[in-house]
Amino acid sequence: MAPERSRLAQRLRRVLRGDVLFDAFSRGRYATDASIYQVDPVGVVVPADEADAIAAIELARESRVPILPRGGGTSQCGQTVGEALVIDNSRHLNKVIAFDRDAMTVEVQPGIVLDHLNAWLRPHGLWYPVDVSTSAQATLGGMAGNNSCGSRSIAYGNMVHNVLGIEAILSDGTAEYFGPFGADAKRAMASARTGELVSRLFGIAARERDEIERRWPKVLRRVGGYNLDIFHPQSELPYTADGTVNLAHLLVGSEGTLAYFRRLVLKLLPLPSAKVLGVVNFPTFHAAMDSAQHIVRLGPSAVELVDRTMIDLSRANPVFRPTIESALIERDGRAPEAILLVEFSGDDRGALPGRLAQLVELMGDLGLPGSVVEMSDDGRQKALWEVRKAGLNIMMSLRGDGKPVSFIEDCAVPLEHLAEYTARLTEVFARHGTRGTWYAHASVGTLHVRPILDMRRQGAEGGAAKMRAIAEEAAAMVRRFKGAYSGEHGDGLVRSEWVGWQFGPRLTRAFEEIKDLFDPLGLMNPGKIVRPSSMDDASLFRFRPDYSPRPLDTALDWSAWDVQNDPVTERVTAPGSGGDPARGFAKAAEMCNNNGHCRKFDAGTMCPSYRVTRDERDLTRGRANTLRLALSGQLGDDALVSQAMHETMALCVGCKGCKRDCPTGIDMARMKIEVLYHHRKRHPLRMRERMVAFMPRYAPWLSRVAWLANLRDLLPGAAWLSERFFGLSAQRRLPAWRGDPFTRDRERASRDGAAAVVEAGPDVVLWADTFDNYFEPDNLRAARRVLQAAGYRVHVARAAPGDAQPDRPLCCGRTFLATGLVDEARAEARRTLAALAPWVQRGVPVVGLEPSCLLTMRDEFLVLGLGEAAAALASQALLFEEFLVREHEAGRLKLALRAMPQRRALLHGHCHQKAFDAVAPIRTVLGLIPSLKVESIESSCCGMAGAFGYEAEHHAISMKMGEAALLPAVRAAGPDDLIVADGTSCRHQIADGTQREAEHVARVLERALAG
Ligand SMILES: Cc1cc2nc3c(=O)[nH]c(=O)nc-3n(C[C@H](O)[C@H](O)[C@H](O)COP(=O)(O)OP(=O)(O)OC[C@H]3O[C@@H](n4cnc5c(N)ncnc54)[C@H](O)[C@@H]3O)c2cc1C
Ligand code: SF4
Ligand code: SF4
Repeated sequence: MAPERSRLAQRLRRVLRGDVLFDAFSRGRYATDASIYQVDPVGVVVPADEADAIAAIELARESRVPILPRGGGTSQCGQTVGEALVIDNSRHLNKVIAFDRDAMTVEVQPGIVLDHLNAWLRPHGLWYPVDVSTSAQATLGGMAGNNSCGSRSIAYGNMVHNVLGIEAILSDGTAEYFGPFGADAKRAMASARTGELVSRLFGIAARERDEIERRWPKVLRRVGGYNLDIFHPQSELPYTADGTVNLAHLLVGSEGTLAYFRRLVLKLLPLPSAKVLGVVNFPTFHAAMDSAQHIVRLGPSAVELVDRTMIDLSRANPVFRPTIESALIERDGRAPEAILLVEFSGDDRGALPGRLAQLVELMGDLGLPGSVVEMSDDGRQKALWEVRKAGLNIMMSLRGDGKPVSFIEDCAVPLEHLAEYTARLTEVFARHGTRGTWYAHASVGTLHVRPILDMRRQGAEGGAAKMRAIAEEAAAMVRRFKGAYSGEHGDGLVRSEWVGWQFGPRLTRAFEEIKDLFDPLGLMNPGKIVRPSSMDDASLFRFRPDYSPRPLDTALDWSAWDVQNDPVTERVTAPGSGGDPARGFAKAAEMCNNNGHCRKFDAGTMCPSYRVTRDERDLTRGRANTLRLALSGQLGDDALVSQAMHETMALCVGCKGCKRDCPTGIDMARMKIEVLYHHRKRHPLRMRERMVAFMPRYAPWLSRVAWLANLRDLLPGAAWLSERFFGLSAQRRLPAWRGDPFTRDRERASRDGAAAVVEAGPDVVLWADTFDNYFEPDNLRAARRVLQAAGYRVHVARAAPGDAQPDRPLCCGRTFLATGLVDEARAEARRTLAALAPWVQRGVPVVGLEPSCLLTMRDEFLVLGLGEAAAALASQALLFEEFLVREHEAGRLKLALRAMPQRRALLHGHCHQKAFDAVAPIRTVLGLIPSLKVESIESSCCGMAGAFGYEAEHHAISMKMGEAALLPAVRAAGPDDLIVADGTSCRHQIADGTQREAEHVARVLERALAG
């Protein structure tokens, strides 16, 4: 570390209460945003409070180090990366400071996330209406920094139309409130310095008045440059109701280059009490584009495009398929080429059907009768908006080095030119050997499109060269159509050089004057908006010309990621052909495009550790970035096996939430196994990890002395000793060993002469996992009884003839995988495959109870290099309830169930069940019990996650994860409610956190058996 940098770090640490992060790993995690760029910051501070932020600015100024404020880091243009001291507001500076219900205003800190603010406002019947697609992660500070715009901007405007005031800190330490200016201003300028500054601003605006008129794009969606037109408005929508100047509006869109926003005062609106959606289906893309100009005349609050590629991608995604299909009208068996989502909203619910009827009539007049799917149900509308909002993310899941690149993706053109603009740009793409997918804001002429480019490739065919060529052609069209080159995402590194092109030399000089007035030392986020670098400066790229992963002999098979794609057809090459020296592992990590979707707190599972710590290190994105940098040697030699990497992975609970929720399919649980495998080669297992990993091997004999094994929770002081010597939390009871494991039933039955098996009926193999077998064998017995009651011949899988340990029960290898012992896991998997092969070959289903074990057969078994046998087993391995539902749906299930005393079941799905879409079957089978109402708990990971919650150092975090949703929901359940959880660790977490007993669904069904 350069000496000045280390001096600054020391000074910051002395003064700040919050985190000061100057190590290479932390800096690496803040070196990227959702753009193609990567710049190593000087350091990062995560202020604990506003005083910290102010002190950081002061110390940076004294050291002449640039300053870069940051929210969620979801910018697409590189405005959130730079060689500067990054100030991350998102972790602590996220409070509501003041609220005036009558005036409908709220004052907030910059790090508050839009969805959180709106959740806070909802009980008051208000909302903040700039509804960006990244509403679950975008902070108000970042939204103001970028002048962000939402899907409903046609009705509500952009950030600039909805910010009333900004309390700012300038780089010289001046604190000032920027807001309404003039006689009505509530707050006067605080200092002579800002008084002078403002009068100079007025002077510049007056001098440039004619140039503003001449050069300024006259569209709503213009976010490039500084908003100098607040002094002489050019926007289609006025900035203020009375036409006066609001100085905060100059700061909006300044991308951190003028001032640090300490607080923002926002204008609120009443929540619209009703909304309806008309989904117009178009036979051609051109027809959709051409219709937009007519549709907006009906006064909708949004008109959003989803094109054919996006429709197909959504249909291919199991999460989105049912929703998107409910919006489509197929003609002659063909899906539409595009749909427009047309929303009408208002307070008068009764008036909305009439407005939908107008839309239907209009489409008839335009030659498209019967093309509108009408949706008045709020749930259906919300689901479809989620699909649209996920648009970009869905698109980014393309594997290979060619990726959709954001650089002209928010040009805005007047609606009458939209059809021609999109058609011509599509031709431009084709000429450059690529193509793009179109979606988003048709209402305001801002259509998103990202041509697929390979930014690693150099020369004339390389991404940088094509990016420039396409940008120039697009710009020429934007000029011809009198549009705006940036209509949503801002300037940053990719578009600041186009500010001069858009506004001309006079206004560019005026922008530089503005910058120098606010920030004479040039410390605020330099190189953005004014005095920019070139968009194709490859030294700023995330994938620089010298980028290359290091060779790595991987434990798991990552070849599915080691591919290339054709930008036109999007066809991908064969697995393993992509040229990744890390055998696909590096390319898998590179899939993370930093969109920040994992920073969400509401629905889904991803990412439980971040939800608790709010630390970028503990986020799927933070981990993927760290891996990418380590695998490509950017964090020094041996980074993959370093302590810093170990810490990066430490709080990943392997829940597989990201496998399902991350739009690009980052599967950090699997990546963690790979990392641990390499870690193990250098660092031996600790005793505690050995105890966990090898449990399947010692369980048979330990269960024979179960009383001894259980003494830990009976003898006073034993738990304390176990924490002291093994790191097992004394605050937890360990799962109690049983002396009567399920796999010994046959022994006992034949000994007692009572082998009770159904002699006829279809076969099914019941897989006895280690956890249920040795800790809760009655679950397996219940499952057997239910299956037998339904008429199946239940076989319990045992080691194959010739197995070296014929008496040891089978194991899926989960505990070995969790500790990185991949070779041992593979050995267990081989035993299992050999034992199950005769059944699998006959097509007999293999049914298991513990989600993390059974689903290992459908997941990790496939990447352990076990060939066809593993694939065959994966296709037949089913969770108990999945099997029952399959039989039920096929009309084969004969299970007589009677009503139970309980009337309500509360269901918590195991994370791996959620990752495999396997929670619904539990609901279905519980639904077969007469009069039982089933409700799901909307929860992320329970926090126990295998051994994680038992580890002393993780106990507190584990409990916090549980407290995030699951444990309070269980506590709120009625005393007679059933609590159902299939995961062993989930049940233990519920017991520890609530003293309630949760049960496996098999136990519930067993009790409901009639007769
Ligand atoms: C998948 C995807 C979809 C998107 N959809 C939309 C969309 O619908 N509409 C839209 O407008 N944008 C969209 N964006 C872009 C981006 O999400 C938004 O601009 C968002 O508002 C940025 O918020 P953030 O908290 O991530 O800001 P950041 O990226 O962290 O910061 C944005 C800018 O604001 C500055 N800044 C942050 N905090 C402060 C502060 N306290 N003081 C001064 N300056 C500050 C930063 O320096 C930076 O220049 C999308 C991005 C992605 C990846
Ligand atoms: S890990 Fe996935 S969700 Fe998170 S930023 Fe990366 S791509 Fe987006
Ligand atoms: S596996 Fe779970 S904890 Fe780990 S990164 Fe993914 S979502 Fe987060």
